[in-house]
Amino acid sequence: MYNVMSPKAEEFISHEEILESLAYAEKNKNNRKLIDEILTKARERKGLSHREAAVLLDCELEDKNQEIYALAEQIKKDFYGNRIVMFAPLYLSNYCVNGCEYCPYHVKNKHIARKKLTQEEIVKEVTALQDMGHKRLALEAGEDPVNNPIEYILECIKTIYGIKHKNGAIRRVNVNIAATTVENYRKLKDAGIGTYILFQETYHKESYEKLHPTGPKHDYAYHTEAMDRAMDGGIDDVGLGVLYGLNNYRYDFTGILMHAEHLEAYKGVGPHTISVPRLRRADDIDPDVFDNGISDEIFAKIVACIRIAVPYTGMIVSTRESQKCREKVLHLGISQISGASRTSVGGYAEPEPEEENSAQFDVSDNRTLDEVVRWLMEMDYVPSFCTACYREGRTGDRFMTLLKSGQIVNCCHPNALMTLKEYLEDYASEETRVIGDKLIEKEMDVITNPKVKEKVRDYLANIHNGERDFRF
Ligand code: SAM
Repeated sequence: MYNVMSPKAEEFISHEEILESLAYAEKNKNNRKLIDEILTKARERKGLSHREAAVLLDCELEDKNQEIYALAEQIKKDFYGNRIVMFAPLYLSNYCVNGCEYCPYHVKNKHIARKKLTQEEIVKEVTALQDMGHKRLALEAGEDPVNNPIEYILECIKTIYGIKHKNGAIRRVNVNIAATTVENYRKLKDAGIGTYILFQETYHKESYEKLHPTGPKHDYAYHTEAMDRAMDGGIDDVGLGVLYGLNNYRYDFTGILMHAEHLEAYKGVGPHTISVPRLRRADDIDPDVFDNGISDEIFAKIVACIRIAVPYTGMIVSTRESQKCREKVLHLGISQISGASRTSVGGYAEPEPEEENSAQFDVSDNRTLDEVVRWLMEMDYVPSFCTACYREGRTGDRFMTLLKSGQIVNCCHPNALMTLKEYLEDYASEETRVIGDKLIEKEMDVITNPKVKEKVRDYLANIHNGERDFRF
């Protein structure tokens, strides 16, 4: 039996256990009795084991699949309501010493423009992001100890938190940088980061090593154990992900759930978020070369099954996905999306000239933040710019406790409505504002505590006086 309590990658991600789980899922994919039992357990909203979830992912029974989708939707509603948290990526540097076969930043790519933002450029980029209405960023960088050492990343974080422009502010900086040491994670924690995000790319060791032939990222164990070190360094919120398209999706789906189980068992708190990136076309990268691409249908099934298996985790879908595909998965479990993203180093303040392509991948959803916000509201979602949990110290297990308490309606929902109203007041187009004001009025009914409701009404009525920071 594999050992979830061990901090060793090859034990908590046991290859044999994954293979056995996949064989079990294959054997039982039409086993109505077992699938019913798993669904009954899932309805308790306490999650599923990786093996049970693998059976649901493989399930071929049409009526049971409909039940899976309906349950995912219900769990999403129960835990996260109709709120969708908004964020944008900010690419700091595409210098990289790794040889990742799927990423245009790989060291052998000589025709991509290499760039690294100066602190002055960061001020410009972040001011542009604030002018769109963003409050939450995910910092991205290649791995390069000379060009992007931890000191550079820390300096960027300090600059970003220090930028106050009109009513804008970046209030939560999440960080997606290469696996590093406990000491460096502690520095990131002290710099006030929100979530530390690191995608595993694939949990299959042999494929992982082939896909990362050179550079520090080649070390499977060091990469896979990064979240343990991040948590040892004091980071409470970690974000997992695999890059779908690189390897067999059933293997990586099972692997990521085992990783979540390991963190829960070994560190007492599971992943704060799980991202579901899919491989995209990019400079020097043709996704068709990798023959593990997944259809939109399988992608939706993965989202639904993760939602059921890890009910408390936030789930992120980026602009790698088109508007249509995002529409298909939002209700199945997604709680955070990016909007108006640029995957180039620079490009928010001024568009990047074509001859200077520094982008990481082609974006499928090119809409403005205003368009994305309006689109969400037209589908009755509440776009949220809230960052209160992190600033109130509700991270790690404290956030999970709030989620499980059912008091989210009197905490997250009011915060979402107040931050949405701030967005509408400060940044939205007239058309978006009209739709938003109607939605906020309707959504006030969700708040159950009369005192909270009164406070929110008071805040909303006085928002034009400039107050921007009251939160529950
Ligand atoms: N350099 C850091 C690392 O090694 O983890 C992380 C930053 S990288 C900018 C962010 C993520 O983009 C990677 O972890 C990978 O999953 C994803 N990515 C790389 N190439 C991609 C592509 N062609 N299409 C979609 N996503 C890609």
